[in-house]
Amino acid sequence: MTTISERMQAIRCLIAEAAHDAGRSPGSISLLAVGKAQPAGVLREAYQAGQRAFGESYLQEALDKMATLSDLPLEWHFIGPVQSNKTRLIAGHFAWVHSVDRLKIAQRLAEARPDRQPPLNVCVQVNVSGEPSKRGCLPQETLALAQAVKALPRLRLRGLMAIPAPTSDNARQRLQFARLRELYEVLQREGLEADTLSMGMSDDFQAAIAEGATIIRIGSAIFGPRLSAAA
Ligand SMILES: *Cc1c(COP(=O)(O)O)cnc(C)c1O
Repeated sequence: MTTISERMQAIRCLIAEAAHDAGRSPGSISLLAVGKAQPAGVLREAYQAGQRAFGESYLQEALDKMATLSDLPLEWHFIGPVQSNKTRLIAGHFAWVHSVDRLKIAQRLAEARPDRQPPLNVCVQVNVSGEPSKRGCLPQETLALAQAVKALPRLRLRGLMAIPAPTSDNARQRLQFARLRELYEVLQREGLEADTLSMGMSDDFQAAIAEGATIIRIGSAIFGPRLSAAA
């Protein structure tokens, strides 16, 4: 049986390989360990293997783990759907939110971010595949939403995030990630100083790195299958 530490080591090697193939420095890609539906104990193991940044999708589950792991200097990223009645707790407990997909949510996070904390790092989530069932703003809405986030106090616009439609076809994976990269380049041309492209999961992170991902969000490839089928 492989350990979490061994799997993290293997992923770091694959990241380095994909970066090398793309002519990028491996240091330009950060690994976010997605611990949703995993117990706090396995996150602690990942910490012991050198991991600091953790992604969570469900607020209550995340708050429970934060309490259990409060002895560790972890950086928490919220990557799940943001409901408006949860913005206060999210703004108070996380360093990053990757999943801001409408202005109202951004405004509520900005109002709720405590002044004594550094600005909340925010990515705008984009629905790159255009499926109506998917979360995220539409590609054509992205620039306006990013500009609005940038103008809000206590938030720091970092860039864009997407969860493309799953496909095992590498060319299709690349195409969807390329769409997000093109929108990211628009933000940069417009002077928004974005530095983050949050894209790529266990099954497609190599394609995401090839298209410029700066944060990849990896769950099952580190922690194994999730305990809860719903997650
Ligand atoms: C669950 C999840 C991940 C990780 O997915 P894996 O396929 O397990 O790597 C990444 N990003 C988001 C937004 C998720 O919900």
